[in-house]
Amino acid sequence: MQLPTRLPAPAPSWERDVDVVVLGSGAAGLAAALAARPVRSALVVTKDVLGAGSTAWAQGGLAGVLDPADSLENHVRDTLAAGAGLCDEAVVRELVAEAPTAIRYLMRLGAAFDAADAVASQHPGEPALAREGGHSHRRIVHSGGDRSGAEVQRTLDESAVAAGVDVLERAFALDLVMGLDAAGGPQVAGVLIASLDDAGDGVASVGIVTARAVVLATGGYGQVFASTSNPPAVTGDGVAMALRAGLAVRDVEFVQFHPTVMWRGPDATGQQALVSEAVRGEGAILFDGAGERVMVGVHPQEDLAPRDVVAAAISRRMAAAPGGIDDHVLLDATHLGERFYERFPSITAACRAAGVDPARQRIPVAPAAHYVCGGVPARLDGTTSMPGLYAVGEVSCTGVHGANRLASNSLTESVVSGTRLGRDLAWELPNRVEPVDPPPPAPIGAALDPAARRDVRAAMSRYVGVLRDADGLAAASSALRSAASKLSVEVPPGRRSWEGTNLLTVGSAVAMAAFERTESRGCHRRTDHPEPSERWRRHLDVRLDQGDVVVAAAS
Ligand SMILES: Cc1cc2nc3c(=O)[nH]c(=O)nc-3n(C[C@H](O)[C@H](O)[C@H](O)COP(=O)(O)OP(=O)(O)OC[C@H]3O[C@@H](n4cnc5c(N)ncnc54)[C@H](O)[C@@H]3O)c2cc1C
Repeated sequence: MQLPTRLPAPAPSWERDVDVVVLGSGAAGLAAALAARPVRSALVVTKDVLGAGSTAWAQGGLAGVLDPADSLENHVRDTLAAGAGLCDEAVVRELVAEAPTAIRYLMRLGAAFDAADAVASQHPGEPALAREGGHSHRRIVHSGGDRSGAEVQRTLDESAVAAGVDVLERAFALDLVMGLDAAGGPQVAGVLIASLDDAGDGVASVGIVTARAVVLATGGYGQVFASTSNPPAVTGDGVAMALRAGLAVRDVEFVQFHPTVMWRGPDATGQQALVSEAVRGEGAILFDGAGERVMVGVHPQEDLAPRDVVAAAISRRMAAAPGGIDDHVLLDATHLGERFYERFPSITAACRAAGVDPARQRIPVAPAAHYVCGGVPARLDGTTSMPGLYAVGEVSCTGVHGANRLASNSLTESVVSGTRLGRDLAWELPNRVEPVDPPPPAPIGAALDPAARRDVRAAMSRYVGVLRDADGLAAASSALRSAASKLSVEVPPGRRSWEGTNLLTVGSAVAMAAFERTESRGCHRRTDHPEPSERWRRHLDVRLDQGDVVVAAAS
């Protein structure tokens, strides 16, 4: 397979220099820019409008220990249990210890989290705490019921702009620009950016932004799959960019499939509405098409078992349906009655759009790609193995999530990690280096025809979904190779073709890693290797070698 090592683009016609350039405007990127800004010039480059990433869609909220009856040790234990042997315990402890401060920081910036009322057994005036799957205690801070992410996004948008963070919207980060450090080693010197036209797809101009720190905050890669809860902007661009720059990416096979994404019919593709775990936290129950409970006898926590357990149980139940495969199951929250509308306004709206009244009817749901645990290896402070390059939020792989993320740890991680990095960069920046590898003056390389995006995503959902096996993963590789054979220099550069090329690159990395990991662990389930294997209690790194995805290391 010959995957491109650089995205094709017109020659750069402008240059700009800043201290810190942040690629992406979700919670992680904005937190980093905001914290660096008092001291540094900070530019946020984002390919759409500010709130186009996953952050604005988060429903459940942020996990952190705020209840005196809970403890940091409990949160650590729950996170490690979900991570199935691959979390870095020291990093988990750092995250859990900083989580309450990060939540209070957002509140100081003006985030209006739902407050506990006097009726609840919680502390009046303090944030109300919800419970989600895998958590042993109530520790999820939320806003507007299920509009938590929108409130975090609003708070950070307003704070960043008020602090003087410069924002370039409809600007697509294409590839890293490399320089050499004093010892002659590689260091990131900047990034190639395409300003998009008013329609948001065509190219208005291309330029180089040089910076002493380049921060990847581009989010995950849920859109690599045909069915996902992620918005259209979440196409794995940062992971693809890192691969093209020669970096290895880690544990990309660990894709968390949310068990309860609204099912809108057999032909629905793209972003699907999430029915948050918090609905099961409030007592909702899963039933199959025959009216039998799905989770009884599967796990002691039944409907509140960890996500991978629930997603796998639903997938198995759908596959075992009498008379063939069922494509959805039913979530019953009718015991909440009309309280559902107030507690879950966004989900109510999505249900109504699908013609379902959640107070009276069971909601059709099915698993869909939701969160990616793997990504660019980075520490919790955002530093990577490449000088000048940082990664925060869902694009990174810090060791917090291991083989499976505990619900609502990711927004917390984005804010903790972004803020830490921004503060560190305010304190100290790497030395400036000049680009030594200026992008070529004319379009080079091939890109994927936007029409072929569908083939990539369909193959990923069909063969690299909740339940995987060697035959299916081989079929995925073959389908992806066939899509790669359609890469063409004739495809005009633009957002959809660049994203398509990134989807193909990331999909190939995920399929390869899923094939290599011959065990079931966390959210990676192999029906031909159903148990975890001690041999595989380690991380798996893949990289691009002359356009081919290869295993870089297992450690
Ligand atoms: C429906 C849904 C519900 C969720 N609920 C929760 C929850 O309750 N609690 C929780 O902790 N987590 C939740 N998550 C996960 C959580 O929202 C994400 O992990 C988190 O918001 C990631 O933040 P981020 O800043 O890393 O990325 P994002 O918020 O995804 O932002 C990525 C940004 O990068 C930009 N970008 C991407 N590529 C480029 C490019 N090439 N050039 C320029 N810009 C680019 C995007 O436009 C976007 O601005 C949920 C996710 C979804 C989809």
